[in-house]
Amino acid sequence: MPLILEGMSNKMSRTVIAFDNDGVLRDESVSYSRCIIETVAFFDGGKEATGKEMIESMKESNDDWERTFNILKYRGIKINFSAVKEYFQDLYLGRERDFTGYINDEIWLADNKLLKELSRIYDLVIISGAPKEEILYNLKRNNAADYFKLILGMNDCSDKFDGMTKVRNIFNPDRIFFCDDRPSPLKILEAIKKDFKLNTFGILPPKSDEGWGSILTEAGAERIFNNVNEYCQFILNNN
Ligand SMILES: [Mg+2]
Repeated sequence: MPLILEGMSNKMSRTVIAFDNDGVLRDESVSYSRCIIETVAFFDGGKEATGKEMIESMKESNDDWERTFNILKYRGIKINFSAVKEYFQDLYLGRERDFTGYINDEIWLADNKLLKELSRIYDLVIISGAPKEEILYNLKRNNAADYFKLILGMNDCSDKFDGMTKVRNIFNPDRIFFCDDRPSPLKILEAIKKDFKLNTFGILPPKSDEGWGSILTEAGAERIFNNVNEYCQFILNNN
């Protein structure tokens, strides 16, 4: 048994398993990209965002509304941010915001059987920068809502550090496991490890460049998994 998991089998100790959402539990990349490309086209005479613009915009921001806005800005299109966001949401959730848009194309990445098994032993939570309604919609659509005790979305916490602090306060656990597919959340959580048993892990998102695992390791991930199911199985095997 790896050293990092020492003590996990102690039933008296309470462990919370916290998940990032996007790129870990759901693959939102195709639906979000489609919204960016089509929103840019809408505001710039039908000219879709190019592959290069998509990559460049990602270097600047993780926020897809901001990415769309920035692509238009660099093209010299003067438009206010809220108009961009509204049109993006029309495509993503439907004009009536009735969840009829591209959100329905998203792929659920988790094996519910594993989530169910984990949820019998641990408290499962989600800490995400995505809007909570969207997370909940996807959980329900994929019959996974019952496995999670708490969902912190975009308006519930300012970042993963804030979210993790809230989870600590609410559950008062002995330790927390957290997994993410991006380096920045892992980096900001390093500070918590100084006075709390927090173990962070990296999950490779559905489409990742070679070397992404090393980037996540450098950011503080103790181990890298090819997907969330390998991660869940790893925890179950070591219970
Ligand atoms: Mg993510």
